[in-house]
Amino acid sequence: MNIEFAPTQTYLYAAVILPIALKKTYTYQIPDELLGKVEQGMSVEVQFGKSKLYTGVVHTLLETVEPGLQAKPILAILEEIPILSSKQLQFWDWMSTYYACTLGEVMNAAMPANLKLSSDTKLSLGSAYDENDQNLSNKEFLITEALRHNQELSLGQVRKILNQKTVHGIVNKLLDKKIIFLNEQVAARYKRKKVAYVRLEFLYREEPDLLQEAFDLCSKSSRQMEALMAFIQISRKKKHVSRKSIYEAAQVDGSVLKAMAKKGIFELYEKDVSRIDSEIDEQETAGELSEQQIKAVAEINNSIKKKRVCLLHGVTGSGKTRVYMELMQDVIDKGGQVLYLIPEIALTTQIISRLKKVYGNDVVVYHSRLNNNERVEVWKAALAGRSIMVGARSSLFLPFKKLELIIVDEEHDPSYKQIDPAPRYNARDAAVYLAFANKIPAILGTATPSIETYHNVKTGKYDLVEMKERFGGIEMPEIQLVDKRDELKKKKMKQEFTSVLLEEIKNALSNKEQVILFQNRRGYSPTLNCQLCGWKMECLNCDVSLTYHKFADQFQCHYCGSSKRHPESCKACGNPDLNLKGFGTEKIEDDLKILFPEAKIKRLDYDTAKTKSSFSTIINQFEEGDIDILVGTQMITKGLDFENVRVVGVLSADQALAYPDFRASERGFQLITQVAGRAGRKKIKGKVILQSFDIKHPVILEILDQDFQGFYNREIQERKEFGFPPYSRMIKLTLKHAKLMYLQDASRVLETHLKYAMGARVQGPAIPHIGRIRNMYLMNFWIKLEKSPLAASQAKKIIEAGINIVHKTEGCSSTRIIVDVDPY
Ligand code: ADP
Ligand code: ZN
Ligand code: ZN
Repeated sequence: MNIEFAPTQTYLYAAVILPIALKKTYTYQIPDELLGKVEQGMSVEVQFGKSKLYTGVVHTLLETVEPGLQAKPILAILEEIPILSSKQLQFWDWMSTYYACTLGEVMNAAMPANLKLSSDTKLSLGSAYDENDQNLSNKEFLITEALRHNQELSLGQVRKILNQKTVHGIVNKLLDKKIIFLNEQVAARYKRKKVAYVRLEFLYREEPDLLQEAFDLCSKSSRQMEALMAFIQISRKKKHVSRKSIYEAAQVDGSVLKAMAKKGIFELYEKDVSRIDSEIDEQETAGELSEQQIKAVAEINNSIKKKRVCLLHGVTGSGKTRVYMELMQDVIDKGGQVLYLIPEIALTTQIISRLKKVYGNDVVVYHSRLNNNERVEVWKAALAGRSIMVGARSSLFLPFKKLELIIVDEEHDPSYKQIDPAPRYNARDAAVYLAFANKIPAILGTATPSIETYHNVKTGKYDLVEMKERFGGIEMPEIQLVDKRDELKKKKMKQEFTSVLLEEIKNALSNKEQVILFQNRRGYSPTLNCQLCGWKMECLNCDVSLTYHKFADQFQCHYCGSSKRHPESCKACGNPDLNLKGFGTEKIEDDLKILFPEAKIKRLDYDTAKTKSSFSTIINQFEEGDIDILVGTQMITKGLDFENVRVVGVLSADQALAYPDFRASERGFQLITQVAGRAGRKKIKGKVILQSFDIKHPVILEILDQDFQGFYNREIQERKEFGFPPYSRMIKLTLKHAKLMYLQDASRVLETHLKYAMGARVQGPAIPHIGRIRNMYLMNFWIKLEKSPLAASQAKKIIEAGINIVHKTEGCSSTRIIVDVDPY
């Protein structure tokens, strides 16, 4: 029998996503020479407008287009294989629909710069450029020559130099070879990383029995003996022995190794090391699971089988990380990939080093501080199926080959929400969607579940697995509330410290235990006041008071970054007697140094830990016991694990609850519970002191009782009463304009439109808590919607129409309107 196959479909057009804020995809024609070669998810070079070239991603292939459409041709295919799967494109579609942004904005968030060149892209010479390189093609030579004479060239200029339309191919090759670079990364210019190693000469490597001869050869030099012994020690643990490690272990320098190389004992060599893979120190196996962990793993596996979303609610120190690792192992064994999301990479060096110790270079970390080349390396690793991808929110966009499991650690963390620019997505929610689209399970882990997630458990949408005890049988810390008002009245307070807290610190120090103090405010003091007339030192560009930073001796704006010198006197009445009010981490550190002159005190906040390395230096010092008291902002709350911290002090518990929105209680509960969770994790029971003016605040009492259920029940009731999420879906609109008058006009126009269509669901316009930032006046609308996809999509259409109307209104055309779905 003859089976007749239908001829393979020939698509003549492609809908392409461009990395610009276009509402839709743009249609291109597939030219004859590319017929049958263009696939969904491929990156292609296309022209847009008169002369602009872009890298686009093929969204869909089309057989026909509406008659009369003059589609420009696709110019070239940039990578032979698709860089995105249909699942990922589905994810992009969802993101742009759900978060009301364009596909181009999603593309920009998702793809590393090297993979989306455009004619504006600037190029410059890279570190691997060598004037005498004989292997350059004629065209490559022309480009590098031009770059020698001009610091930088745009891709458009390169086109002119080569006198050809498409240059992406050549440029990509030069980028791969690191002969040229994208200019935006000049600051952190990529250098090939070389490490100097040493190994035994071939003879000794092959015949270890002969090693005795090597010892004989250096018996006359004690330094050479030391070096050889150090080498043997280190080589037991490491495949490649770096020269540096010998210098450190044997206290010798390069001349000793060179002499030994001359004698034929050692061979010196260098190796390029990948930047995303690090030399792994000692490999370890993960510890035995505790009974509680075994049970949790079994329960989660049950949930995984049903491909469900599962909340792992485990108290601080219960050992959730070890549970994740067990689950990862199963996926790795089957050849799949795991995405392990963590809130902020810089703040999680501890977890990454724990993972790397066990899984070595199966672990790849993706974060915002990687340069463009490193990002491409990580992308390729994901495409190649590397097993454990760890990253902050943007790692959701990696092109996974075989994603089998997503873990969202600290699912409650606000930094999962991207504030700016669009897409303004919550990575936890997006992860749940990604899991759904891939038909794989997702695990959300935390000690302090978000109200939304816990509501999903209660309504049966998610599974729940609990770990109620700390690992190793350690008891949960004791939490004590101290009344600041009472201490003030009795004159027992010293600066911002209650007598109770000071006593605990003193005890801890004398027992050689460590202390963590928490205040969620950096700088020395948040305001400078005139007591006569009430004048406040404020920012010129923003409606906020300036924070005094003592070390820099200046007043800084935490919103626009501008700063001012210390004023001589009040700018309003001339009174020279000005008062600093309130305190931040810098003042606490300062005062502590006077109260405990012997103690080693350090501060961990945005000012002292701006870079990843300054952060890890402080963490390491604290781990090693070189710091007695660590003062910090919310930076110290995130998943840190120290053995010897017994006392934790929260200096202003009520302040942590004073956010100006409906998540205030939730945030405060999470923040304080997480800080408290740093106490007494390993050896002894911890002690937590909460200082507060308000000692009757229900949330504080719930924290005191470590009563998450009680907190949840009360909070969810309030959300229900006022129709806040999870009982509604919120969309926040923020209007920005440099002129207050036009902002008010625009707000009125939008208000009329929105309220006509959606009535009482619309609240606003309202001036936000801070009404002006960087000289832009702000106005908010809040829209509370019924929780249905239909309501959301209708609302988004109404909003879009409203924005168009505003932009067509005289004087209002330059109003910026930001749409934020599920705002924070
Ligand atoms: P959580 O993330 O739940 O707060 P961690 O995962 O940080 O807790 O675990 C708390 C501490 O207990 C860590 O120091 C961790 O190394 C240790 N730990 C947890 N499980 C094990 C285990 N199975 N074997 C050895 N140590 C463990
Ligand atoms: Zn004054
Ligand atoms: Zn400012």
